[in-house]
Amino acid sequence: MYDVKENLRKVLGDLPAGVKLVAISKFHPNEYIMAAYEEGQRVFGESHEQELRQKVESLPKDIEWHFIGHLQTNKVKYIAPYIQMVEAVDSLKLLKEIDKQAAKNNRVIKVLLELHIAEEETKYGLTFEACRELLDGGEWRSLEHVQICGLMMMASYVDDENQIRSEMKSAADFFDEVKEKYFKDDDAFCERSWGMSHDYPIAVECRSTMVRVGTTIFGPRVY
Ligand SMILES: *Cc1c(COP(=O)(O)O)cnc(C)c1O
Repeated sequence: MYDVKENLRKVLGDLPAGVKLVAISKFHPNEYIMAAYEEGQRVFGESHEQELRQKVESLPKDIEWHFIGHLQTNKVKYIAPYIQMVEAVDSLKLLKEIDKQAAKNNRVIKVLLELHIAEEETKYGLTFEACRELLDGGEWRSLEHVQICGLMMMASYVDDENQIRSEMKSAADFFDEVKEKYFKDDDAFCERSWGMSHDYPIAVECRSTMVRVGTTIFGPRVY
């Protein structure tokens, strides 16, 4: 087993005050999660509903779970009873479904809007334009069981640090635009979730408040 505790301490040591760590534990067994837990880590991220459910049932109840992957609307009901934050909301339809299922559970679920900035072809994430459109539409304002806490993005998976930096900078600038225009008086809108194992030091330079690190802590995933 990777020295999870030591790796975790190293990553935490790299993070300035105000940057939270979401330990991405997908595809890693409970004993790895418990090693990080014993070191004090309480926030973990998963991307598959069934795997997450099994972990929630068997691990300590004070863990805060983030859903970081693409979430299908028909799966929302399964995670609504316990999920703390859904990090990758990229449609009004998904936002409304989370609101509906959170209401059924008498909860408020925190969410981030996922941006698509990377050059890679992916179906997921909102372009800046689509994100403005969603917010201009205003329907989100009436949803009382979701709280939009900020933005999330994944930079292109490339070696070119300048490209990563430029994508993260444009996400940070876009955060400022959205904050000013729609969330000026809403202190809850404060999160900028970017940075993974290979690029979290760059993310920290680019005003990330929340890094999502898996491999550097837990080792390579066995799929
Ligand atoms: C898997 C994943 C991560 C963590 O990736 P590592 O390279 O293992 O740190 C972060 N964010 C998202 C959305 C992921 O799916």
